[in-house]
Amino acid sequence: MLVVKKFGGSSVANKERIYNVANRCIEDYKAGNDVVVVLSAMGKTTNELIAKAKDISAKPPKRELDMLVAVGEQISVSLMCMAMAELGVPAVSLNAFQVAMHTTSDYTNARLTSIDSERIRAELDARKIVVITGFQGVDKYNNVTTLGRGGSDTTAVALAAALRADKCEIYTDVDGVYTADPRIVPDAKKLDEITYDEMLELATLGAGVLHNRSVEMGKKYGVQIVVRSSLNTNEGTVVKENAKMEKMIISGVACDKKPARIAVIGLQDQPGVAFKLFNHLANHGINVDIILQSIGRDGTKDISFTVDEDKVDEALAVMENHRNTSLICDKIDVDRNVAKVSVVGAGMVTNAGVAAKMFEALYSAGINIKMISTSEIKISVLIDQEYCDQAMRAIHDKFIKSN
Ligand code: ADP
Ligand code: ASP
Ligand code: MG
Repeated sequence: MLVVKKFGGSSVANKERIYNVANRCIEDYKAGNDVVVVLSAMGKTTNELIAKAKDISAKPPKRELDMLVAVGEQISVSLMCMAMAELGVPAVSLNAFQVAMHTTSDYTNARLTSIDSERIRAELDARKIVVITGFQGVDKYNNVTTLGRGGSDTTAVALAAALRADKCEIYTDVDGVYTADPRIVPDAKKLDEITYDEMLELATLGAGVLHNRSVEMGKKYGVQIVVRSSLNTNEGTVVKENAKMEKMIISGVACDKKPARIAVIGLQDQPGVAFKLFNHLANHGINVDIILQSIGRDGTKDISFTVDEDKVDEALAVMENHRNTSLICDKIDVDRNVAKVSVVGAGMVTNAGVAAKMFEALYSAGINIKMISTSEIKISVLIDQEYCDQAMRAIHDKFIKSN
């Protein structure tokens, strides 16, 4: 059997944890399996490296930032192989360049395009444990890239797909996927199973337990993903195509603190206004999420929308550039202190009243809703960021605790 085992930062945070992981991998190896291990940077290393960059420059070139942060994963894999050698098992560390893991050139957010499996196969055939850097890649000009924060999960699932692994296990600091972040909602329940679609929504809407692109990749290549703890042997959560959800309408609640809201007030109420506004933003690669347009009044209307907070300044600059030509309006207003709270569940499609129940939970907690957006399997609301945790608990209580 070929297994891919990925361990996150907290699972390799210090010497004791590194030896713990080494022993778990060796157990699999001694059972006769081929073992491929994917590691993240130790503890808070990636954050510390980013802080170093920001100390030198407020806006470091993205290529150089990737060159810097990729170092973190290399520390983990080399130390892990030293620990394995100390325990008497042959292991070899490989970085993205040595594998090679090819990506696009979108620094800090590169996409994997293909993985060469020859070197890995050769090392496995020589009965070594192969320990590979997560998160990093290499573009077609041999530049180092990274897959975005949390991207080691995607490295692991992509490797499992490329190697046609029998198992892909993501080890972290919680027992599996819960109905909400257990650090924020203490009564959150662990799910035995969840579908790719629901997990993808949850991950995209802020549940940081899995990188959303790892779930996308799992679905595309049919890789079953198991999320479990590196600190115990509990069963974990299986992410797969069809899951039994035991009469639960909602599979989870998530919160994302990244959005910011921009309101454009007093636009002309005539055809083409929305097109021009969003076209300017699209031309600058700025993604827009929730959009709300008011009813026209006295020949004018307002349009509000959300963008990621790190794109706000760019969005404002783009809009300011067109203020006197194609974007005539009275005022542009920004609110950076907002959060998006969402409920996700495939059961919503066939159950009426989910939105009302969510809004009732927020009303009971005295939390005001600023924007709403829905799809077949999710409802999201924008609220003041300070109420984020409280909102998650209130919504979770209403849907899951009382079930
Ligand atoms: P790793 O370093 O192992 O990749 P992460 O910090 O990226 O770990 O992901 C694990 C964390 O995800 C947990 O500690 C937990 O706080 C958070 N989390 C957010 N939403 C969920 C959820 N629905 N279920 C489980 N954990 C969640
Ligand atoms: N070390 C990287 C990060 O902190 C990648 C990962 O942990 O998956 O984002
Ligand atoms: Mg992670």
